[in-house]
Amino acid sequence: MTETPSSADWLSRGRDAVARTSLAPEAEPIGRVIAVADGIARISGLPEAPLGALLRFEGGQAGFAQALDAEEIDAVLFDAADGVEAGHQVTDTGDVVRVPVGAGLLGRVVDPLGRPLDGKAPPEAEALRPIERPAPSIIERDLVSEPMMTGVLVVDSLFALGRGQRELIVGDRATGKTSLAVEAIINQKTTDVICIYVAVGQRATAVERVITAVRDHGAPERCIFVMGGAGSTPGLQWIAPFAGMTMAEHFRDAGHDVLIVIDDLTRHAATHRELALLTREPPGREAYPGDIFYLHARLLERAAKLPRSVGGSITALPIAETDEGNLSAYIPTNLISITDGQIVLDAHLFAANQRPAVDVGLSVSRVGGKAQAPALRAVSRRVRLDYSQFQELEMFTRFGGISSTRVKTQIARGERIRGLLTQPRYAGLRLVDQVALLAALGEGTLDTLAVSALPELCKRLPGRIDQQGGDALTTVQQTGALSPEHRAALVAVVADVVRDLPQAEAAG
Ligand code: ATP
Ligand code: MG
Repeated sequence: MTETPSSADWLSRGRDAVARTSLAPEAEPIGRVIAVADGIARISGLPEAPLGALLRFEGGQAGFAQALDAEEIDAVLFDAADGVEAGHQVTDTGDVVRVPVGAGLLGRVVDPLGRPLDGKAPPEAEALRPIERPAPSIIERDLVSEPMMTGVLVVDSLFALGRGQRELIVGDRATGKTSLAVEAIINQKTTDVICIYVAVGQRATAVERVITAVRDHGAPERCIFVMGGAGSTPGLQWIAPFAGMTMAEHFRDAGHDVLIVIDDLTRHAATHRELALLTREPPGREAYPGDIFYLHARLLERAAKLPRSVGGSITALPIAETDEGNLSAYIPTNLISITDGQIVLDAHLFAANQRPAVDVGLSVSRVGGKAQAPALRAVSRRVRLDYSQFQELEMFTRFGGISSTRVKTQIARGERIRGLLTQPRYAGLRLVDQVALLAALGEGTLDTLAVSALPELCKRLPGRIDQQGGDALTTVQQTGALSPEHRAALVAVVADVVRDLPQAEAAG
């Protein structure tokens, strides 16, 4: 949403600026370091420095103003505090923290200040932009109306996401949160969406896995990896999501659609708390400072869909970790109320090998349904209801024999839904594959197939649709619409694949 002034404009503005500039010597505000500890420098003599001001230390190190007292301020350092000592001079640069933006960052691994971490030259920057920028106002936003497909059937069919949406991925430790977000990034291989993965406080090995997965299966040349990992200073970790958002906004303003994953905001909240305690801010609930809600709200508000005439969109997938599935803890509830829905991952499902371990009852997508392709909406309408009924029935029938055939059919259907919603990694399904599977499910085509053969069906189907899908393939993929003829054609392809696979033993 930056206006692009004509060259005449620029020229006259430049002239004005030159005319206004005084060439007399000017005093730069200079302060002194009183003490340094834990990545924080206490500084006197800079009482005018505003919050977030970029400060430069005598040895060249940088930091930003965090806590402001009447006489002294605290600065959060970006790099190791080694060279910073009491007595050193500090300059208020009069600027805020800025990061490089532009196409030069694509395909790169950088730290939150845009410095290279991949052993290559510093990325070429089109501009330096502040890490904190105002979110688009309600008036400036457009309705979320275009799908952002993840290739993961359970998400795309039941909790569809739209471009410009903010959806929280939340779950206990090691329940596949990062993996799910990475699937969404990898699935953009066949779209024009630009992806930004921001790591906050993650272990180096976990981050390495993400980069490798995207390099092996996705389109890394359209991704930026912003690393504020566990080894980074709290200052770098703190700015990482904001820096990623600023990088995303550059592409959004140029009309692109961006997907940003922030992994994760629980760690970010912990870093914020750590910095707040070190700078003696008064602690609130669970010792978090009072502005923790505002911190994440102002970050995630920047994800939005703009009207096409103005720009593109930013879809945000922030991640949060829960403790023993407790969604009502402080940070998860905050994030749930800021976002447009949440995908809840469940440790029990994960342990039972149902992966992705999405808890269908607790997950919700508040806006994406409207953006879902009509073809997918048509075939997934009954799935959620059938599935929840099945889960209830399964509980009841666990202890006794099943008598009614109706119940048996319902259970057979439910087992197949569960089989379909279980999906290996790096096996994202296209819209047409998803539509074909769910349409066939609805027709009962899968009822006789052995549940154990479902993974093989999902594996073989895309190739078969390529061969036999014909008109249905192109129409569904391109328009997202589903005519009765195309529906029948796709179900026929599924039936064809099913014929060669093991059948369920006759229910007895
Ligand atoms: P952490 O809390 O450590 O960040 P996480 O919730 O992000 O963990 P992941 O790192 O994504 O979880 O996944 C944990 C493990 O589960 C990984 O080792 C991964 O190999 C495995 N895993 C995740 N998703 C799947 C899946 N769909 N199928 C098979 N294995 C999976
Ligand atoms: Mg993770």
